[in-house]
Amino acid sequence: MTTEFSVPEIFGSLVFDDATMKERLPKQTYKALKKTIQDGDVLDLNVANIVANAMKDWAVERGATHYTHWFQPMTGITAEKHDSFINPTDDGRVIMEFSGKELIKGEPDASSFPSGGIRATFEARGYTAWDPTSYAFIKDGTLCIPTAFCSYTGEVLDKKTPLLRSMERISDEAVRVLRLFGDEETTRVVTTVGPEQEYFLIDKELYEQRKDLIYTGRTLFGAKAPKGQELEDHYFGVIRPRVVEFMADLDRELWKLGILAKTKHNEVAPAQHELAPIFTTTNLATDHNQLTMEIMKKTAEKHGMVCLLHEKPFAGVNGSGKHNNWSISTNTGKNLLNPGKNPAENTQFLLFLAAVVKGVDEYQELLRISVASAGNDHRLGANEAPPAIISMFLGDELQAIIDSIVEGTKYSADDRRKMQLGSNVLPDFVKDTTDRNRTSPFAFTGNKFEFRSLGSALNIACPNVMLNTIVAEEISLFADELEKADDFDSAVKGLIKKAFTEHQRIIFNGDNYTDEWVAEAERRGLSNLRSTPEAFSRYLTDKNISLFEKHKVYTKKELNARYEIMLENYSKVINIEAETMLDMSKKDILPAVSAYVRELTDTALSKKTLSESIPCDVEIELAEKLSKLLSCFARKITALEEALIKAKDIEGVQALADFYQGTVFAAMSELRAVGDEMEVNVSSEYWPYPSYGDMLFSI
Ligand code: ADP
Ligand code: MG
Repeated sequence: MTTEFSVPEIFGSLVFDDATMKERLPKQTYKALKKTIQDGDVLDLNVANIVANAMKDWAVERGATHYTHWFQPMTGITAEKHDSFINPTDDGRVIMEFSGKELIKGEPDASSFPSGGIRATFEARGYTAWDPTSYAFIKDGTLCIPTAFCSYTGEVLDKKTPLLRSMERISDEAVRVLRLFGDEETTRVVTTVGPEQEYFLIDKELYEQRKDLIYTGRTLFGAKAPKGQELEDHYFGVIRPRVVEFMADLDRELWKLGILAKTKHNEVAPAQHELAPIFTTTNLATDHNQLTMEIMKKTAEKHGMVCLLHEKPFAGVNGSGKHNNWSISTNTGKNLLNPGKNPAENTQFLLFLAAVVKGVDEYQELLRISVASAGNDHRLGANEAPPAIISMFLGDELQAIIDSIVEGTKYSADDRRKMQLGSNVLPDFVKDTTDRNRTSPFAFTGNKFEFRSLGSALNIACPNVMLNTIVAEEISLFADELEKADDFDSAVKGLIKKAFTEHQRIIFNGDNYTDEWVAEAERRGLSNLRSTPEAFSRYLTDKNISLFEKHKVYTKKELNARYEIMLENYSKVINIEAETMLDMSKKDILPAVSAYVRELTDTALSKKTLSESIPCDVEIELAEKLSKLLSCFARKITALEEALIKAKDIEGVQALADFYQGTVFAAMSELRAVGDEMEVNVSSEYWPYPSYGDMLFSI
């Protein structure tokens, strides 16, 4: 396809980025702002006024009339409240104004955002504070200011603030270690993320006929289509014209927002696709991924389609995940998870690697918790990869090196190179080659880790808060030891050996989908937290609380709040799904099947009346079969209704979530099974909803 625009020209055209700031701000202001961005200095109000005014002029020139503090509350989506720039003048007209105060701080009414009991409603106000590390941008005629969201007493109420805190922590600790290796240049370390986003596209007209998709984002009924993904013909397949147009449009919109959309292809399931951006610093990647999801939905609508971001929109075919490719980089541009070219770099690499391995083992439950949601339970807890057990894959070559470290033997990749830790050169890793383990939840892929357990709808902030914090913790423990050591070289080798020896259990290079692995993981003492309520029951341990308090990422109060919010949310989601199923069952499915049965019996009766010799056994048998199913269906409806009534009496967020998972969800599954069985046997003329086949194969 040819384009009528130049990509470099439109790229970032709706972002108040560094180049724009440089061009539009007085030199002194630009310098002061840069200092704030780089060193976290407090922004002077005079500077803020100048920046705000320049931003406003820039935005108004591009058609903006409003501004908003754009933030990421605990709902998992982004929030915005639009204020216009207008300010009345004495002569009854208006001018467009935007002050430094308005830029720096907003005061949205926080009472309608989840806070987990942190905020009593009488002190409902919260405030948003500009995060100058993420650029302002224009979306739908509104200047969006990325902000953090706090309560008046300072507790964080969003996903972004803890992420920024965790970025600070890993930076400080990593710089400490780098100094010990003689690196005097690095002043900051950041983590980087490239999130691969999966999604489904279906026709909007079909979507609108399905209450389940409208209310819950997934199908609650639906028999398998005759064809699924078994021919493996969709993955990387030729992209259909309608989808090609959508993807081109999407790329263009994302590029305007400075989002590095790079790769797009068809995924495994029919109607499933993926978009991967080029990686960037984690806080920016988080903002960009939130925007990407939003723009995907909007762009799909423009093309008469709906973009489904739910983790499991359709039973029987793959669900959607989000691979969180994560690494650690210095501000001098070095990737610390890239094995180096000389012995010192190799030792340093192995130390950072050891920190990740140790951290993932020590805090495996936190990683599992960070990806837990009602939607993602369909992937992690079911027969779909990755499993709920967190383990790591390092690849054959790195594994051999680690084995040799643990056993104290020499590693030899082949005859050309011999590896002895710290005195020889690591062989170049065979990156991204054939034996990439696609089943591992946490795989080393040559110069980064790929955390694959994330669900497609998740805000990536939380898993990255965990990764940053647990690795910061391990690095800080290493630094404590190393700073005390008389002989740095042998101390570092000792630490590496100890970490790999003690944390071998977290490494698994085999097939993660098998029952053998489940049994083996249990023998190794690894956690297998199958559902969201089960995972969250392990959240508020002393170990986790002291980790976050030590690194000032969350206070105990904030952790408590998050626990409550997540579990409440889980119960609410299941409740909405259950209510939707009941609505569909009683108002649509039951009457439809009953009507079809009547047609069958009417037919049989009129045949009989006409002549005893016309066979009508087919109609009668089918009517009998469907009537039995219908009775069964009605019983399952009652069972689900009773479960929902019981739920009303359960106290405590944990007990309630456990009940929704163990009882309500189970009742829903039983109801669905009967519903799907009826769908298979009912004429499509009567069935009230578009089928799986219609939805998955129509675009
Ligand atoms: P695959 O589908 O094979 O896993 P992709 O090329 O689709 O691989 O995605 C890999 C992702 O990893 C991309 O988003 C890429 O930008 C990202 N990535 C590459 N290097 C790094 C790094 N150092 N830190 C974080 N992400 C990275
Ligand atoms: Mg991947």
